[in-house]
Amino acid sequence: MSTKSEKKINGIKKNHLWVPFVTFLIVTAILTVIVVFSVRAMFEYVARTKIEAQCKEVYHLSQVAKASGDTEKIFKEAEAEYVIKDQAGNILKSTVEDTSAGDPVLISFDKDRKAQVYADSKYDFISFSGNDDFSVDYMGILKLVSMEKEENKELFVTDKTGFFEDEIDEDDEEEASGEIDFSKMILPFWIKADTGEGNIYLIKAYYELTVNDISIIAVIFAVFILVVILVFIIMLVNLVNSIVKRKNTLKLFFTDIATKGHNWIWFQINCEKILASRKNALKDYAIVNLILMNYNNYCICNSVSAGEQLLERINKKIQSLIGKNELCAHSNTANFALLLEYEYVNELEKRLGRIMTTLSLMDESHNLRFQAGADFIDAAIDKKSRIARKETDINVIYSNACAARESLDTAKENAFAFFDDRLIEDQKWINSVTEHQKGAVEKEEFVVYYQPKYDPVTSELKGAEALIRWQSPEFGFVPPGKFIPIFEKNGFITEIDHYMLSHVARDQKKWLDEGLKCVPVSVNVSRAHFIEKDLAEQIRDMVDEAGAPRELIEIELTESAFFDDQKQIIETIEKLKNYGFSVSMDDFGSGYSSLNSLKDMPLDVLKLDAEFFRGEKGERGEIVVSEAIKLAKRLDMRIVAEGVEEKEQVDFLASQNCDMIQGYYFAKPMPVADYEVRLKEGVARRDQIVHGEL
Ligand code: C2E
Ligand code: CA
Ligand code: CA
Repeated sequence: MSTKSEKKINGIKKNHLWVPFVTFLIVTAILTVIVVFSVRAMFEYVARTKIEAQCKEVYHLSQVAKASGDTEKIFKEAEAEYVIKDQAGNILKSTVEDTSAGDPVLISFDKDRKAQVYADSKYDFISFSGNDDFSVDYMGILKLVSMEKEENKELFVTDKTGFFEDEIDEDDEEEASGEIDFSKMILPFWIKADTGEGNIYLIKAYYELTVNDISIIAVIFAVFILVVILVFIIMLVNLVNSIVKRKNTLKLFFTDIATKGHNWIWFQINCEKILASRKNALKDYAIVNLILMNYNNYCICNSVSAGEQLLERINKKIQSLIGKNELCAHSNTANFALLLEYEYVNELEKRLGRIMTTLSLMDESHNLRFQAGADFIDAAIDKKSRIARKETDINVIYSNACAARESLDTAKENAFAFFDDRLIEDQKWINSVTEHQKGAVEKEEFVVYYQPKYDPVTSELKGAEALIRWQSPEFGFVPPGKFIPIFEKNGFITEIDHYMLSHVARDQKKWLDEGLKCVPVSVNVSRAHFIEKDLAEQIRDMVDEAGAPRELIEIELTESAFFDDQKQIIETIEKLKNYGFSVSMDDFGSGYSSLNSLKDMPLDVLKLDAEFFRGEKGERGEIVVSEAIKLAKRLDMRIVAEGVEEKEQVDFLASQNCDMIQGYYFAKPMPVADYEVRLKEGVARRDQIVHGEL
């Protein structure tokens, strides 16, 4: 798989799921901290206000005492619990046990007024925090409010350490009635009263937690908890959303738009998975490229969406024909990639044949044709030792399978081919041709050879066909069969058609200027070119520009092209004829049944394919040729027999009124100079029938 798509997939797989996860954890942690600190702050606020209120009271009491001069009386009247100490700290008098403990804490209240507060030895929840400030041990308070319910339904107030009161003080134990007794929720502390008397007065005060205090704190706490739950839910929904989204994105990433099945990326990933976990040593794997032929035609005739629906059905059908450890995905246009298990190559061959036959029978209303190419994974250990290669890159193996399939003759139905080393060489050749094609046109490395066409009766020169040759400094003399099919596939053929046409037109003009008696020369125009809407105009302009008469140019279109867009072809042929060119159907009878197109196409010339004159055809062959000639004549067409090599064939064709013969019997394709000699001679004599250079 390409590193680009690999990165993409990994990106989606990760999809930063940890982000919502971590955010979720952080937010939860922050909220928890906020809740804890807020509750603590709330408790502190409540405790502080209450302690300050008590201090204020004691302060006022001491002010009154100062004024009256009888401190004890004032405290008694106020029903305070107090301890009087001398400066040395000895207790002079006390109304309550002295449990004050630790260092005093300075508390400010009412701006400048301050009081010294002591903790109680049993509940020392007051302490210093900072210079002038104090804090309350809210944990002590929390424990104070945490009522523990025993099974016998007794309620206890716990002390600051969390122990039950009964462990400290039996009297504090309370019979439970199911309700919390708030009277028990008090914490004692001590306030030093400044009476100006010299003795030290310690007043016992109480911090008391009321129902109101607890309610307020509980409400705040509940609100916070609600917020936390809300955030928790939002985050959870977000998280679930992210997971679902990730799943959907992955699904989308692996889904093919046309077939709604799997795509090429999915195929590569799963191929690698299967190959990595391969257990069955008896079985090997092959990657197959399977193509639906003439898919474009199907789309043109039935619409693109109908084409895609067909691909979808084909995909489903293939899925039903493959096993658990095998794969199928749509790779591009009408191509499917398959991973198939096999033990013996001949079995695989048969299976591919069966798959293609089943697929072609899927739709009775259309002639569905398939072709396949395959390459083997771990080819080196292939049972038949067909190939001594070891390749495990899925991409390379699949392109090998494609190359094998492309090596097939497109006319062959349900054919398949396996990749071999020869195809590697072919691929290298294709690459170098493609690399050199443009430069070769610029440097005029392509040359025009002419093959004369003669009258079989009079041996008179009646015409010629222009055939391309490549005189390459790198590759030497290259015949068209080695590069034309490559140009047809890569689209460069249209350049070549232009090149040939303009060269032929120029040659004709030159010969006319030299006073030679010119004959029409036919030029091959590829089917790829023929679907261009303005092709007729292009040809007209090119020929006119060269200054050659239009009637001296004939356009040859191969028979198989007549199955393309017929309307377009007829239009172009008609235009060409109106402009004064003649048009011929090349390779008639080479495999396609084109009789039907003959009826609609206003053609001038029919070229009988060379196949008619290969091998022993006997009487039946002669009947076919004779009838084809009659048919052409009745349709008002001239007829050219191609590939004629024997005198007997020439004699037979002469007897059947065949108009022209293009074959080695009279002449091979030849360079311009040799053709000029033939032009000058006009008639081929038997002793002049010298084969031209190939
Ligand atoms: P084609 O158009 O059918 O051309 C006729 C082919 O048959 C030529 O092969 C010619 O040399 C060969 N031939 C003619 N008479 C005989 C014979 O008596 N015996 C044998 N054995 N062969 C004979 P060539 O020149 O190798 O061209 C092969 C094909 O390449 C052509 O088939 C045509 O399809 C393509 N081609 C050649 N030149 C061009 C061109 O300029 N443009 C395009 N688009 N295709 C071209
Ligand atoms: Ca031809
Ligand atoms: Ca031909």
